[in-house]
Amino acid sequence: MYRKVFKTKRKNIKSEQQLKNITIIPRDKHIISRKNISDSALKVLYRLQRSGYDAYLVGGGVRDLLLGLKPKDFDIVTNATPEQIRRLFRNCRLVGRRFRLAHIIFGKEIIEVATFRGEHSDDHDKNQSQQSNKGLLLRDNVYGTIEQDALRRDFTINSLYYNSADFSVRDYTDGLHDLQNGIIRLIGDAEKRYREDPVRMLRAVRFVAKLNMTLDPQTEEPIRRLAELLQSIPAPRLFEETLKLLQSGQGYQSYQLLRKYHLFEQLLPIISRYFTPESDSNMEYLLVNILKNTDQRITQQKRVNPAFLFASMLWHPLLEQAEKLAQEGGLSYNDAFLLAMNDVLDEACLRLAIPKRITTVMREIWQLQSRLLKRDGRRAYRLLEHPKFRAGFDLLSLRAEIEGGELARITQWWDNFQKANHDQQKALITEVASKHNRHHRHRKSRQMKKRFYTHSDSNIK
Ligand code: ATP
Ligand code: MG
Repeated sequence: MYRKVFKTKRKNIKSEQQLKNITIIPRDKHIISRKNISDSALKVLYRLQRSGYDAYLVGGGVRDLLLGLKPKDFDIVTNATPEQIRRLFRNCRLVGRRFRLAHIIFGKEIIEVATFRGEHSDDHDKNQSQQSNKGLLLRDNVYGTIEQDALRRDFTINSLYYNSADFSVRDYTDGLHDLQNGIIRLIGDAEKRYREDPVRMLRAVRFVAKLNMTLDPQTEEPIRRLAELLQSIPAPRLFEETLKLLQSGQGYQSYQLLRKYHLFEQLLPIISRYFTPESDSNMEYLLVNILKNTDQRITQQKRVNPAFLFASMLWHPLLEQAEKLAQEGGLSYNDAFLLAMNDVLDEACLRLAIPKRITTVMREIWQLQSRLLKRDGRRAYRLLEHPKFRAGFDLLSLRAEIEGGELARITQWWDNFQKANHDQQKALITEVASKHNRHHRHRKSRQMKKRFYTHSDSNIK
């Protein structure tokens, strides 16, 4: 796969310099235009520049601009220290414990400004740089030169620098070559780089999906072997990374890659324990549907809701747990279901710290699944007013797509009810009431569970 990164063929770039290991592409030979860089990022670059510092755009911003994509955010790197940066900008906040960074705040937009990072060696001051015995970087506030900074970045395509002094692009790791050929390649020894920061395995997969590129074989090889190292990563960071993987428009492909490289089980073992060899369980169909749906919504620039995504993904594990508790503890199915919600969230949060504001909504979506089955009297009107009705209904629909049967009929009913006028709504409720009366006589003999869920739904397979 060849991507057009340069305006002219690379070998025709006359002013291209080959200094030691650096390639410099001058302003008129690459496609980055200041029009496509946010005003705030330009302001920061210029102010640093005018104050006598070096200032570069780096990372995903440069990578995406060279690919003709719209960058998600703009990261800047400079030889000014965080303190020096703070003195230049009133709207500046210093953040980060692992690595101290400046955030320059322009309303909703935050421009991240980092200081060049230096090399890592054991003889640095222990307070500034620590490495655990597994090779994991704990703190690394060691400042350095741009050349050192380039080698500390993760992938070659993420290590390209757009110079605010002359608008050229600097490449220290042959990232332009990889960008053109669609290759995700770790800088340096792959295993060592994964051991330093196992999240790089997730990033590798994310960029493959996002940019439709391929992993260099040496970058690919250690992943399955080292996937377990993700267990050392704090749950809040894993949650953020998972969200980026599943909710950035390439969720379905990311999911497939996560499974392929045995990374999914590190993130959500509560789900992966039910994976089947042919990936053909109801749970897996639901996962695929929800992820494809989410991707589609993002393409259409619609909002996506992490609570809905996680509530759907964890639906079947929740049913399994509820069933287990109901059988073991002699609880009513409803009580078992409520307890199971706690268990499932507790277990999921051991790996991914799903924030409380999200788990609260997940619980509501889950509880709506049984409430939506009962539509008689005033219930239907009340449910329609429920703040999470839409999300609850959407999960019901996704489940119905897979299971069909009674669930599909109920989903259709709700679909009609939402679109109906007042008289039609009354008629729909009457229809439910008459059915309800017909069934009432048999109800006692049915299992509690079946009032809430269809049988096929309660089984993972
Ligand atoms: P995007 O913002 O599109 O998700 P990005 O590459 O900009 O992708 P960020 O998380 O914004 O990703 O990071 C900015 C840059 O910082 C990266 O391009 C890379 O150069 C560097 N970087 C980020 N995370 C790591 C890491 N774990 N190890 C080494 N370098 C990293
Ligand atoms: Mg970025």
